[in-house]
Amino acid sequence: PLVLGIETSCDETGVGLVRGCELLSDEVASSVDQHARFGGVVPEVASRAHLEAMTPTLHRALDKAGAELSDVDALAVTAGPGLAGALLVGVSAAKAYSMALGKPLYGVNHLVGHVAVDQLEHGPLPKPAIALLVSGGHTSLLLVRDLATGVQQLGDTVDDAAGEAYDKVARLLGLPYPGGPPVDTAAREGSPRAIRFPRGKWGDGTYDFSFSGLKTAVARWVEDSARDGRDLPVADIAAGFQEAVVDVLTRKAVDACLEYGVEHLVISGGVAANSRLRTLAQERCAEAGVVLRVPRPRLCTDNGAMIAALGAEVVAADLPPSSLKLATDTSLPVDRPLAA
Ligand code: ATP
Ligand code: MG
Ligand code: FE
Repeated sequence: PLVLGIETSCDETGVGLVRGCELLSDEVASSVDQHARFGGVVPEVASRAHLEAMTPTLHRALDKAGAELSDVDALAVTAGPGLAGALLVGVSAAKAYSMALGKPLYGVNHLVGHVAVDQLEHGPLPKPAIALLVSGGHTSLLLVRDLATGVQQLGDTVDDAAGEAYDKVARLLGLPYPGGPPVDTAAREGSPRAIRFPRGKWGDGTYDFSFSGLKTAVARWVEDSARDGRDLPVADIAAGFQEAVVDVLTRKAVDACLEYGVEHLVISGGVAANSRLRTLAQERCAEAGVVLRVPRPRLCTDNGAMIAALGAEVVAADLPPSSLKLATDTSLPVDRPLAA
């Protein structure tokens, strides 16, 4: 079946079309530039941008796939988690198309979509798999028995998400928003061993993460440098910070694979675009005999194809469609791939 996916949980309006694991089109309109000067997403601005971008983005996705609206067999839309107003735009649009076309609608989980998207690049995900979800708002380790029906959370961040830590540290270092890409770039000019930053929850026997102590340690460096009139070693701080983040992420992800006897690890979400995370994960997986799957950066950040990919799984699992009463859920838990 041809599945159309709609994503509007944050600041990207995404529409994608898939057939099973085949990616047919993936169109994204981002309002990130409108938020940059505020240093974070402004919800009202994001909702308005979704409203304007929804229809043109959907038609571009259909054009790129060489499909007509009437060819669509099912619709999937992000029901949560995300920003209330932003989610509402996507869900309302999806309901309207579902009703007009007489095709089933599935309200799905954005976080599980970040994992499902890997299938569009690497084919069906062998189960069970461990998934490390690292994004702007979340940092979780998941045991995936089935994308549509069997996602279990093993651990979570107890404070900041990994992407949030990148964004905050970028701000401290005077780098632009969103902070992941500029910190990644700056880190290449520095030494990861020049400054050793704390590894939150290292070796604590859980699969949880903590990044707020690390952020505070970076803030202290910045303050001390300013007070002593020293130049800020931006590249070394970026490299040291990044090493602390990816060291814990990859260690705990590989540990989970070993403990659960799982051979495949998927890393996804915006932070999975990080160059050092990709390299270190590859090294540690190779040592541990784990097969690593990381989607290309374009698919790691928010897009509609990831929602269509999860929609295709839900359709294949024969789960009942959502009703037209489908509600958004700003904090939909990750163990519910399909919203009510
Ligand atoms: P969520 O999925 O939790 O709702 P989100 O959708 O806002 O959050 P994503 O779009 O998946 O998050 O990811 C955005 C985050 O990824 C931002 O915090 C950004 O700084 C980070 N990011 C993007 N590229 C990189 C990179 N190369 N290195 C590190 N972080 C990155
Ligand atoms: Mg975004
Ligand atoms: Fe996301």
